Amino acid sequence: MNDTTIAPSGATQTPSENVRTISILGATGSIGDSTLAIVAHQPDRYKVIAVTGGSNAEKLATIARNTGAQIVAIADENKVSYLKEALADLPCEVLGGDEGVLQAARVPCEMTISSIVGFAGLGPTLAALDACRYLSLANKESLVCAGSLVMGEAAKKGVTVLPLDSEHNAIHQALLGDRIADVEMVTLTASGGPFRTWSRDDIAKAGPANALKHPNWSMGAKITIDSATLMNKGLEVIEAHHLFPIRHDQLDVVVHPQSIIHGMVSFVDGAVLAELGCPDMRTPIAHCMAHPHRIETEVERLSLTKISQLTFEEPDLERFPMLRIAKQGLAEGDVATNLINGANEVVVHHFLNENLSFYGMSEVVEKVLTLGLNQFNLSEGITSYEQAVTIDGFARSEATRIINSLT
Ligand code: NAD
Ligand code: MG
Repeated sequence: MNDTTIAPSGATQTPSENVRTISILGATGSIGDSTLAIVAHQPDRYKVIAVTGGSNAEKLATIARNTGAQIVAIADENKVSYLKEALADLPCEVLGGDEGVLQAARVPCEMTISSIVGFAGLGPTLAALDACRYLSLANKESLVCAGSLVMGEAAKKGVTVLPLDSEHNAIHQALLGDRIADVEMVTLTASGGPFRTWSRDDIAKAGPANALKHPNWSMGAKITIDSATLMNKGLEVIEAHHLFPIRHDQLDVVVHPQSIIHGMVSFVDGAVLAELGCPDMRTPIAHCMAHPHRIETEVERLSLTKISQLTFEEPDLERFPMLRIAKQGLAEGDVATNLINGANEVVVHHFLNENLSFYGMSEVVEKVLTLGLNQFNLSEGITSYEQAVTIDGFARSEATRIINSLT
């Protein structure tokens, strides 16, 4: 009985003692770093099959050498010859361009870690559904842009989607063993970001240097800006809607500056189950990677007496309009959330280049959403990758046009 557990589906599973084969899409990023740290700490449990990167060929070459991955793909075509040369003494196959990344995503493995940032992760995530049994999903944008398509394809292909985002992983853990019908509310916590206590006037003047100083988490630049605007929490509410079969009005956001509670589920009997831990992505990643069990990690252990206080606040939608816009998008459906995501990726890029103000970002996203809602038929939803690309392309070109008209 000891090594037998009840899986989330209610099925009885006996764990395999075999080494788990994994592919890491976005291996050179922050989630990639944390995933590779777990592999390095548990070298007997994981065999890395394929790794991909965007443009950092030096880092990808080191990862390929350290892991012994058989397939190594870099999206930036200009870096392929460097990568081939750097790995010439190894028996791995080196691929390049978007097609190379897709090919790497299609290599059979037991688990894919989907951790490319942004819409660029959608194609590889869909491709991975043909290759893996478990999809550990960090790339929230793929659910925001085409959540019904991704979850529908996963179900069709018998792939289990494991939420890797810390809030969703917490909620997934809190739901284990319970019926969705007994859930009253699902709560995502938000740190509040670096501007939680700033006035609207001060936030209006904030630049990328201020916004990149996240109080609790160390992450890639895009998600760090999304955390400062609270768009990250908006994207996560949409992500939760696709991962867990609950109504929109059962999804709640609470600001919790210490980031110790990552997510909670309230049940019809008044019980609330939460997952707590130090804010370190290695915990939710390890939870996915060890599914359906757990593995030991080097994460700092939680001491509640050391922290002494856990505090909670309502999110302020006046100072953080991106959360309001994302919730509006959720109510409108997949087309709207795709438009919001595409526009958001563009405005974050311009904000990072000091080409757009903090509140300029939400103004542009809101304008693109209004334009897109007039342009596309919402009732159809998004049923193909090509459709997702069309709507994303519209959002990007409109956002760029509006920003150019401002400067
Ligand atoms: P990051 O910027 O550190 O890394 C992104 C990865 O994607 C890199 O490997 C990069 O090379 C690759 N990439 C970028 N553009 C690409 C392209 N066009 N084609 C192929 N590859 C490309 O980002 P991150 O912080 O690791 O976040 C990755 C994803 O995980 C995001 O969707 C983010 O929202 C999600 N996430 C991150 C964290 C975190 O703590 N960092 C937590 C929860 C969820
Ligand atoms: Mg998160």
